[in-house]
Amino acid sequence: MKSEYKTKPRNLIIEYLKDNADTRFTARDILNAVKGKGDGLDRSTVYRNLERLSKEGKLVKYKEADVNATCYQYSEEHESCCEHMHAQCSVCGKIFHLDNSIFKSAAKKMMDEYGIEIDYGKSVIMCICDECRNVGM
Ligand SMILES: [Zn+2]
Ligand SMILES: [Zn+2]
Repeated sequence: MKSEYKTKPRNLIIEYLKDNADTRFTARDILNAVKGKGDGLDRSTVYRNLERLSKEGKLVKYKEADVNATCYQYSEEHESCCEHMHAQCSVCGKIFHLDNSIFKSAAKKMMDEYGIEIDYGKSVIMCICDECRNVGM
């Protein structure tokens, strides 16, 4: 009986997302990519790990309008993704981490005029990134 080290589902998912840090993924993409690579990597395991990782701020989780699915992106250096706003390129899907202070006056206005508070961690602004803007120019 040889004892083989099995990579944990969590680590497989992190590895995969790290290797593709600039790309957005749906849970299904991730499941397809990692299944067969470890034990017990079924749908619910992958979903559960994605949930946990996004709670820990290791993944940015956002709703994709055109795919109608929740998408994920790796974000190790941004531990506070649940606290700040993100911008997403509508062409390539790349995520940008924004400083909340940019929205200071907008946030105040929204509070004053509409009585609403920005939920930074859940907000994604659609944009077109530098790279995509310069394509075809
Ligand atoms: Zn972030
Ligand atoms: Zn782009």
